[in-house]
Amino acid sequence: MTDIDTLIANTIREDVRAGHIYNVPDASGYIKLDAMENPYELPDPLRQELATRLAEAVLNRYPVASYATLKQKICDKLGVPNGYDVILGNGSDEIISIIATATARQDKRAVLMAPSPAFVMFQRSAQFAGMDYVGVPLKADFSLDRAAMLAAIEQHKPAVVFLAYPNNPTGNLYDEDDMIAIIEALGETGIAVVDEAYQPFARTSFMDRLPQYPNLMVMRTLSKLGLAGIRLGYLAAAPALLAQFDKVRPPYNVNVLTQVAAEFALDHVAVLDEQAAKLNEARGELAAALAALPGVTVFPSSANFITLRVPDAERTCAKLFAERVLIKNLSKMHVLLANCIRVTVSTPEENSVFLNALKASL
Ligand SMILES: *Cc1c(COP(=O)(O)O)cnc(C)c1O
Repeated sequence: MTDIDTLIANTIREDVRAGHIYNVPDASGYIKLDAMENPYELPDPLRQELATRLAEAVLNRYPVASYATLKQKICDKLGVPNGYDVILGNGSDEIISIIATATARQDKRAVLMAPSPAFVMFQRSAQFAGMDYVGVPLKADFSLDRAAMLAAIEQHKPAVVFLAYPNNPTGNLYDEDDMIAIIEALGETGIAVVDEAYQPFARTSFMDRLPQYPNLMVMRTLSKLGLAGIRLGYLAAAPALLAQFDKVRPPYNVNVLTQVAAEFALDHVAVLDEQAAKLNEARGELAAALAALPGVTVFPSSANFITLRVPDAERTCAKLFAERVLIKNLSKMHVLLANCIRVTVSTPEENSVFLNALKASL
């Protein structure tokens, strides 16, 4: 008889055995304001048209391996500069993992760096690829600590630095000059990945700067724009650099249904942009209402979520949970986030349920 625990001890690497599954709470019956999803669905005539397209999708064949049509549409509609190209991922989560896999070395430990607190997948992907992860603390107002970043780059010589623009979980845009100083300091020794997951809300981008900086890559996703369910991310950079990452990408990583749905959505991207504009307006209203509450500090956001500090984050989250509202308690993520919570901006109705429950918790 094989003892399963002995088998696991003999086969599974130690850091995986000691680790945890990425926790996603069950949201059925809850108002879900913890994952930066767009609350609006595709409007009805479009849903019907999409259904027709999906019915015509060729499911018995592998996807067309080049993904040429979808890539071209992304380049044309989403502002990729001439002469630059994209590779696709099953969500940008997969792209982060591809980047780590391609830059982790076998002759020495390579370093993946990000300001801290940052999106948790940077650290997870670095770990699983066998890289060292270095998080450089932001300042208390969540701006980049330029001097600390430059010193850390000098000391650790990172192969990759991830800069989320705007940052998750803080919501702010970093200062452009700070970012450029980092990209320039990396030069020929490191790649700067600007993660623009929230670009539909921020409406500012480093995409136009690709021709200026050969070591710059811009990563985006359709998730926050309203297509979280189809899982599609893309990475834009110079073709010669992208070709290296393309070697690591699993073949056929984007499925046929995603490809059809994404091409359709990009043909109607104005509808999604309108939804994003509506959410931006709601963000302004929600932020103002929150800022008026005693004991609440609202941090500036250029994303579809708001990060705020409350007197007692645990009590607030418990109250919201009791009222069937899911948000994210950031308190334990980082010392800078003590008593901070993060809430996705949603419909006026859901925002007001959140606001009332939050008030009741104070
Ligand atoms: C949500 C998010 C992603 C991941 O997006 P997917 O494409 O859904 O995997 C990447 N980066 C940041 C900063 C995010 O907040």
